Amino acid sequence: MAKEQKFIILGAGLSGLSAAYFLKEDYLIFEKESTPGGLCRSRHIKGYTFDYDGHLLHFKNKAMLELVRRLLGRELISVKRNSWVASFGDFTRYPFQANLYGLPRHIVKECIFGFLDARLNGYMHRSDYDNFKHWIIHTFGEGIAKHFMLPYNNKFWTVPAQRLTCEWVKNYIPVPTIKDVLNGTIAQSKKRFGYNAKFWYPLNGGIERLVLAFQKQIKGEIYTQHQVTQIDLDRKNVTFQNEKKLKFENLISTIPLPEMLKLIPRLPTKIKTALGKLRYSSIFCLNLGIARGNLSDKHWIYFPEKKFVFFRVGFPSSFSSEVVPQGKSSIYAEVSYSPNRPPDKEYLSDRILEDLAKAGILSCADAIEVCDPLDIKYGYIIYDHNYKANIKTIQEYLNQHHVYLIGRYGRWKYMAMEDAILDGKNIAQRIRGE
Ligand SMILES: Cc1cc2nc3c(=O)[nH]c(=O)nc-3n(C[C@H](O)[C@H](O)[C@H](O)COP(=O)(O)OP(=O)(O)OC[C@H]3O[C@@H](n4cnc5c(N)ncnc54)[C@H](O)[C@@H]3O)c2cc1C
Repeated sequence: MAKEQKFIILGAGLSGLSAAYFLKEDYLIFEKESTPGGLCRSRHIKGYTFDYDGHLLHFKNKAMLELVRRLLGRELISVKRNSWVASFGDFTRYPFQANLYGLPRHIVKECIFGFLDARLNGYMHRSDYDNFKHWIIHTFGEGIAKHFMLPYNNKFWTVPAQRLTCEWVKNYIPVPTIKDVLNGTIAQSKKRFGYNAKFWYPLNGGIERLVLAFQKQIKGEIYTQHQVTQIDLDRKNVTFQNEKKLKFENLISTIPLPEMLKLIPRLPTKIKTALGKLRYSSIFCLNLGIARGNLSDKHWIYFPEKKFVFFRVGFPSSFSSEVVPQGKSSIYAEVSYSPNRPPDKEYLSDRILEDLAKAGILSCADAIEVCDPLDIKYGYIIYDHNYKANIKTIQEYLNQHHVYLIGRYGRWKYMAMEDAILDGKNIAQRIRGE
């Protein structure tokens, strides 16, 4: 067996690439697929470019924006969000809670009265809530809860909101003021709310462009088609599919946590128990290339109503016109499902097409040039009431063995691309003692 390697990185998605970039040297990086990028790869079919459904960049951290700017240069474009909610046969601007204008009058009344009641009589600090459903009702009131928040989130998470905690909501759900809500009732609101009011995207080549830019800056080789099949914590070595073994001093894993733990022989019972309680949702996505220009000027639309099978539909051709052949458009439709209840994918694809027509997005005259179904096994990590304690137990155990978890599925945390890059940076600095 070769000599001990100081840092071994498992997985060359954004977080693994970022760890390699910031470690600079003394590392080896291994990826099971034939190309790096993980969920940030893009698919190029008949002149159309699709991502693993929508992948748009948002930044809370200035250093991350600067890094991505340096990596992509002029390729990075910034776009003002134009997103909508489909409700009661019409579209209202996102977020629903601040854009009631245009909804049927009795719905507006129910939402406003509920919101004022919640705000004036029940509003508490977020951390006081024991579940997501309570947080929704006490923050937005019964009307907004009933007509958007609960149906949308139940569809999206695949579990009822009362089974979720609220520890993730702060970064993702905008909470408008009373003034915002009233303004959004009188006229269409011009204010842009939330973390994604503006987004960044590569002009050409889809989100994979960012992966390619990272790859160029990384000095060491990325060993693709190197699937790790065992991690021996006592002997501190990893085994690959080709039976090669490598010893490590520090191991950085971005492999989805449930899969990574299964690679470790002789797991203690408490870790096996915690592993058995990790929950996630999966995403079925249908990418479509349509032979019609300017299909929509919207970026994406949320669909809370049960009559539509998808929870969201996006239009990559409105992020950048360069991702489709001239005079054509593209769509992705996203359906969440629980891995315990896998759907019939053929039925789902047909149903998506039917519902796109029902929503007025596709017409029977449209020629579909590309129909590319994608199944994303690990979609969203479910923050149920076991989550926090389980992650702590697992992380402490692995850290004792110099195994560090990073990335959305490695660390098992709801995070965006920016956070995955930041995770790579943080771990490099932490284990180098900077
Ligand atoms: C549906 C969806 C939409 C999203 N949209 C956005 C968005 O709009 N904006 C945003 O900022 N973020 C978005 N994200 C989040 C974003 O995709 C992630 O934060 C980011 O890609 C995570 O990167 P990662 O490196 O942590 O994980 P991954 O990309 O999953 O990388 C892990 C890597 O490990 C490899 N691997 C797995 N097992 C092994 C093994 N045994 N041996 C070796 N290698 C292995 C995998 O092949 C993969 O390349 C979205 C996520 C989903 C699911």
